[in-house]
Amino acid sequence: MIIAVSKRKPVDDIMVAYEAGHRVFGENRVQELVEKQPLLPGDIQWHMIGHLQTNKVKYIAGFVDMIHSVDSLKLARAIDQEAHKNDRVIPVLLQVHIAEEESKFGFSESALNSLLISKELSFLQNIRIDGLMGMATFTEDMKKVRSEFRYLREVFSRVKNAYFAGSDNFRQISMGMSGDYAIAIEEGSTMIRVGTVIFGARTY
Ligand SMILES: *Cc1c(COP(=O)(O)O)cnc(C)c1O
Repeated sequence: MIIAVSKRKPVDDIMVAYEAGHRVFGENRVQELVEKQPLLPGDIQWHMIGHLQTNKVKYIAGFVDMIHSVDSLKLARAIDQEAHKNDRVIPVLLQVHIAEEESKFGFSESALNSLLISKELSFLQNIRIDGLMGMATFTEDMKKVRSEFRYLREVFSRVKNAYFAGSDNFRQISMGMSGDYAIAIEEGSTMIRVGTVIFGARTY
C-alpha cells in the first residue's frame, strides 16, 4: 500500500492525487491533519505517521484510519481511551527504533517484547495492533538502510511468531520513504510512506 505523505502540502495538491484515484494519505502533525481533514472528501483514509503526544490523540481519534507511530505504552493507552470514547477500534503500528540516530523514536526489540507480554497491553480493547513501523537512518549508505529494513522484517517475523501467530491482522510492515522505498519493498515492506516523489519537494 502507498501512503501519500501530504504534510506541508495544500489541500489542492491532495485533491489532484484524490482525483487521480488515490485515497490513503499520511500526515505527521496533529494540527495540520485536523485542519485538512474537514476540507477534503470523507472517503480519504488518514494515516498519522509522525510522533504523537498523548494529549493530542483526542483530536484525531474520531476519524484517523491508522496510527503508525505508537512508541510507548502510555500512548497506546491514550489511543485506546480516546477510541473507546468514539466507540471505535483504531488500528495501530508499533514503531521500532532501527536507525542509528538517537533522535528517531521507537521501541528496541527487547522493549517491544516487554510491552507485548505486559498485562496492561492486553487490557486495551479499542486498539488493534496491525504490525510494525520503522524509519531507517538518514544516509546515502544504502547498504546500511537495507540492513536496517532487513532487521525490521526479522523483528516482525519474531514478534508475529511469538505473539500474533493466530492473527490475520498483524501483517503490516510500514517502511520506506521517497529515498529508499524500492529497497524497503525488496526487504518486505507492505506500506511505503512517500511524499516527495508524489508531491515534489517540500518548502518549509
Ligand atoms: C515526511 C515523512 C515521510 C515521507 O518522506 P518523503 O521523503 O517525502 O517521502 C515518511 N514517513 C514519515 C514518518 C515522515 O515524517
